[in-house]
Amino acid sequence: MDAANEMIAAGDKILKLNIGNPTPFGFRTPDAILDAMNSNLVNAEGYSDSKGIDEAREAIIKYHASKGIEGVGMNDIYTGNGVSELIVMVMQGLLNNGDDVLVPAPDYPLWTAAVTLSGGNAIHYICDERSDWNPDIEDMRRKITDKTKAIVLINPNNPTGAVYPKEILMQIVELAREHELIIFSDEIYDRLLMDGVEHTSIASLCPDLFCITFNGLSKSHMVAGYRCGWMILSGDKSRVKGYIEGLNMLSSMRLCSNVQAQYIIKPALEIANSADPLLQPGGRVWEQREHIWSAMNSIPGLSAVKPKAAFYIFPKIDAAKFNIKDDEQFVLDLLRAKKILLVHGGGFHWEQPDHFRIVYLPELTVLKEATDKMAEFLTDYRQK
Ligand code: PLP
Repeated sequence: MDAANEMIAAGDKILKLNIGNPTPFGFRTPDAILDAMNSNLVNAEGYSDSKGIDEAREAIIKYHASKGIEGVGMNDIYTGNGVSELIVMVMQGLLNNGDDVLVPAPDYPLWTAAVTLSGGNAIHYICDERSDWNPDIEDMRRKITDKTKAIVLINPNNPTGAVYPKEILMQIVELAREHELIIFSDEIYDRLLMDGVEHTSIASLCPDLFCITFNGLSKSHMVAGYRCGWMILSGDKSRVKGYIEGLNMLSSMRLCSNVQAQYIIKPALEIANSADPLLQPGGRVWEQREHIWSAMNSIPGLSAVKPKAAFYIFPKIDAAKFNIKDDEQFVLDLLRAKKILLVHGGGFHWEQPDHFRIVYLPELTVLKEATDKMAEFLTDYRQK
């Protein structure tokens, strides 16, 4: 954000609670991953197959098979420079001008941007705060037209921290089946679960439907800078042959993803649950989640659903109480007054000016200081 950068340039110290990057907050990748990265420098000198090295793709197949996605071959896996690259690739390959894609609101905004960049219309379906931020199936249904090509799911969700139950996923499968829609499921947070919640990959529920499932190591293994993600194609491909040819072409056009980072996929997926201790009671992320959640529910005018995964919370702010007409202005006012940087709800395509997202990665003392400052700020805040 420009205002924050100007303040930093002027010598201010800003607490950045705006980006989901674990490394600056003291989270470290397991040694086995660093070793794999270091020891493959020479092996990674050349381009790889455009979809990735065999050992990485084999490990990816095995991981997703363990989550019930079966029948996937080596050709169905594409590694990417982060999930980000692949999100853009799948939309570029799919959309003609004027096609619609159902995207959640709130969403991780790259999904909407990728649809728009590819000439499509992102049609936002509501995730319902009163129902644990689960997708509103009726809203989805209402928004499907003959222009709709696909449904995007972000599960576990950024920015809400929701994990969708099987019953909800089954209803989405029914809609996709009825309207012949492709399912894109972004599951990058599936190894960052709390409270014993189980994650279900939607593709495991519909082996007959064409799905693309996205995952990567940026968050679960604290290596966002290595740029390491992948997607897997599953289900019935008979009606999407041309699309797959297009994906293969786009994949070849970028030659390959960072080869050195591909070498960490196998060791990483062998210790897939390396972040677990952080997510249990007493673990850093769990303790920080407990604090942020109770703080957001004890400051008058704020409320929040408890996140079950990842490291984000998406609190509601009483827009009437604080006279908030512009949520970006609220975030700016907080930044100027308390040097804390959040992202306004509109940044996640949330229409009303009554939400914001906090990344709760800083350690507890820092987080407590931040929530005290927010409480102080809100005691007499009224937007002008
Ligand atoms: N998908 C979601 C839901 C995210 O929150 C993020 C990053 O914050 C990404 C994808 C991008 O991840 P990557 O680092 O693999 O590009």
